[in-house]
Amino acid sequence: MDTKAFKRSLNHSDNYHRKGFGHQAEVATQLESEYQSGLIQQIRDNNYTLTRGNVTIRLAQSFGFCWGVERAVAMAYETRKHFPTKKIWITNEIIHNPSVNQHLREMEVAFIQIKDGNKDFSIVEFGDVVILPAFGASVQEMQLLNDKGCTIVDTTCPWVSKVWNTVEKHKKREYTSIIHGKYKHEETIATSSFAGKYLILLNLEEAEYVINYILNSGQKEEFLAKFSGACSVGFDPDTDLIRVGIANQTTMLKSETEQIGKLFERTMMQKYSPANFNEHFQSFNTICDATQERQDAMFELVDNQLDLILVIGGFNSSNTSHLQEIAEEYQIPSYHIDCVERIKSKTQIEHRQLDGSLTVTENWLPSNELVVGVTSGASTPDKVVEDIIEAVLAFNPHSAA
Ligand code: SF4
Repeated sequence: MDTKAFKRSLNHSDNYHRKGFGHQAEVATQLESEYQSGLIQQIRDNNYTLTRGNVTIRLAQSFGFCWGVERAVAMAYETRKHFPTKKIWITNEIIHNPSVNQHLREMEVAFIQIKDGNKDFSIVEFGDVVILPAFGASVQEMQLLNDKGCTIVDTTCPWVSKVWNTVEKHKKREYTSIIHGKYKHEETIATSSFAGKYLILLNLEEAEYVINYILNSGQKEEFLAKFSGACSVGFDPDTDLIRVGIANQTTMLKSETEQIGKLFERTMMQKYSPANFNEHFQSFNTICDATQERQDAMFELVDNQLDLILVIGGFNSSNTSHLQEIAEEYQIPSYHIDCVERIKSKTQIEHRQLDGSLTVTENWLPSNELVVGVTSGASTPDKVVEDIIEAVLAFNPHSAA
């Protein structure tokens, strides 16, 4: 499939919308009341710090809703206003945040359900409106919806589209796209749908395995078993790792994406010599600014004397789990929670661990003088952060306002 030609023709279709519908002012008030927080603004204005009694809250200097998420949510709200009587679907969570998705359900925006492991588009009918989320949708989904005669509202973040353009460039020049990402994540599924040959690497360890294969060769069967599901159909490590280009899921740990890029750069230089290097390696900077800023702010936050860190965000939010990785790296007790209800009591908190499992930790909140670091992922509204900070402050009898 010529994905570039398809996208070009979609861009010219009257049924395809990539911008809002001119209702920004109307939805702005609604968005503010549902997602913004006076307390968070107050903390921002006070140099990202709040002290009540013997509890100090230190907020990261960059956290929460990023530009791409704000834009996607606003477009979804505008879509409802613009098509008040139409059936509206969304192909996935608009962003990885339960409260935002719940608000959309209340506005009668329906989510495409999974049936037998696949999205069930059979219930979508001609003329329905379908919203594509901030992290995009695969080109096959777009084509299917277009063929069905749906009106498509594409809220894909331009940063994600930038990565799609990058893999299109790799494809055109016959480079294999090495994508740093999670192969089951919707954004990476979408990105790989625009790529030609591709290989998805989760981390540095997998990158080193591939590098070793490039330099020293290895067991092809073992390679293919290791990356089963994470490479293009018919991928052959003996012939498809001769020319490589780097791309990434926008929310991966920035430092790791950079390390992986450098690793491949050095390897191709070593294997093919500097004179021929450009024939074997390509790299464009596709790390999203918002992800970078939130991770940089987290590194600044962990530099403070903190007793613990609350990392707030959806449990399937990749950028949130990377923030927690930073806390773990600095050995600061940290709890990834998605809503205030996870705080069961002053002594019990239910939280997600880095391996994805949920656990309950007892005696998580010391009762002495306390400094609590707080950050949130790019899809977390300030209101959710406010509720959690209020809960922490309320547990401390000396911290009443
Ligand atoms: S994290 Fe970056 S890529 Fe993702 S929606 Fe936000 S701005 Fe866009």
